[in-house]
Amino acid sequence: MNGLPARRLLLVHAHPDDESINNGVTMAKYAAEGAHVTLVTCTLGEEGEVIPPGLAHLAADRDDALGPHRVGELAAAMAELGVTDHRFLGGAGRFRDSGMMGAPQNTRPGAFWSADVDEAAGHLVEVIREVRPQVLVTYDPDGGYGHPDHIQAHRVATRAAELAADPGHRPGAGEPHRIAKTYWNRVPLSVAEEGFARLRASGAGPFPGTASPQDVPGVVDDGRITAEIGGEEAHAAAKTAAMRAHATQIAVDGPFFALSNDLGQPLFVREYYELVAGRPGAPAGERERDLFAGVDA
Ligand SMILES: [Zn+2]
Repeated sequence: MNGLPARRLLLVHAHPDDESINNGVTMAKYAAEGAHVTLVTCTLGEEGEVIPPGLAHLAADRDDALGPHRVGELAAAMAELGVTDHRFLGGAGRFRDSGMMGAPQNTRPGAFWSADVDEAAGHLVEVIREVRPQVLVTYDPDGGYGHPDHIQAHRVATRAAELAADPGHRPGAGEPHRIAKTYWNRVPLSVAEEGFARLRASGAGPFPGTASPQDVPGVVDDGRITAEIGGEEAHAAAKTAAMRAHATQIAVDGPFFALSNDLGQPLFVREYYELVAGRPGAPAGERERDLFAGVDA
């Protein structure tokens, strides 16, 4: 179909770097296996804080040049993961980073948080009807941790999946397509706790402080996890390299990393998901080891 590979995975994220932190192993794995991996990033991450002092001038409150810089970081990260189809929702710069919840940037013109969900979803419908993914990965309704752009990414992805499948929605704009399985990004609590125990045992690495399991987006009780991806050293290495490529946002040190808050956290080389739509491809009580399990390619 469309000359694309049989297996097609779509990931929807808020900012450049979210995809590498959440799904780097998964993206590297499926790209390496020949699946078509499409990343849609909803903003350029213009409001991010900048870690390297030499690049501090890029920040929104100085030159406001972080967006274009992060486009380059994302491209470098995708090269590390072997992903060639990465796009910005509605084109680069169509929607702007909204900043943290409650910030004045939430409501500035063009802010993703202020966008009409159906209008924003319309751009994603076009991608879905073109690429025709069987599997969609996005955040939970809280965006994993309450960031407005992450919440909005969830809403837009969910709405677009619905509209893309509806034959009555813009009948001229591509054949309708129903996504077989939708997953939310998750981290099992036990994995987060074990990771932080490792970090504390190592003396917190080079970071001045340590985050806590509750700071990790998408942490839930282990019982909610339905899929687990990982175990290949090459994919873990690709994820680490992709995270390093987001140098304005992430400081990687061995098996740990920190964001601009300088709090160390474990770098997870296994990734976890909760299936929220579609039929599980593993027996009840067992985790899927393949997001395409049970999907007819
Ligand atoms: Zn983000």
